[in-house]
Amino acid sequence: MTDAHKFIAIDGPAGSGKSSVSKAVARSRGYGYLDTGAAYRALAWHVLDRGADTADAEAVRAAASDFDLRIGLDPDDRSVRVGDVDVTAAIREPRVSGAVSGVARVPEVRTGVNELFRSLVAEAAFDAVVVEGRDITTVVAPDAPVRILLTAAPEVRAARRAGELAGENAAAVAEALHRRDAADSTVVDFLNAADGVEVVDSTALDFSQTIDAVLAVIDRKQGAEHAR
Ligand code: C5P
Repeated sequence: MTDAHKFIAIDGPAGSGKSSVSKAVARSRGYGYLDTGAAYRALAWHVLDRGADTADAEAVRAAASDFDLRIGLDPDDRSVRVGDVDVTAAIREPRVSGAVSGVARVPEVRTGVNELFRSLVAEAAFDAVVVEGRDITTVVAPDAPVRILLTAAPEVRAARRAGELAGENAAAVAEALHRRDAADSTVVDFLNAADGVEVVDSTALDFSQTIDAVLAVIDRKQGAEHAR
């Protein structure tokens, strides 16, 4: 695998704090940041925009073959475009969250976006890129020197997500999150750490403690890598 050393791979379920922690870690180290979930969300948005059904694998494959994703690596610029359309806000809407697992389940789609992620990292102007998702530690960059699984107890994840989506019904948010995790975990296992993947459990940690825990793993793993 090319350029594996540039990956800081972070996986975890929805509401684990992955995105905000990964972004903060990237900022503090001057690294790039890639939100792979945003790419899947943008593709789900694109399928819906074409009036197609995200449960229809053939329609998803057709949409994927005509998908012009524009996503950057700057942790301070999370804008996402599909062609010329800015979809940054739209991809966070419940209708996209509810549709994204259908898109992510199609094997050819995964292969295609994984190639895109690897080339974005390989061509990045950064020394390293914090890449967060569900299968980064296992499929996209299994040879990365730093691989972390960020977890938290299900009720803590649901509460955090409900807090982010002010105004949404907490029980409905929890139910949607658990439904999405259940669907996603049939495709990739992001609830158990693969061999060599470090677990950071944020259940009892606040935001800055979680960042510190992740930075400590990065320092230790990079130190071990440099000593080799
Ligand atoms: O991380 P986020 O919750 O935004 O991810 C949105 C969706 O994208 C997930 O529910 C999952 O279906 C898909 N995904 C994936 N593999 C990744 C990242 C995200 O299947 N590496």
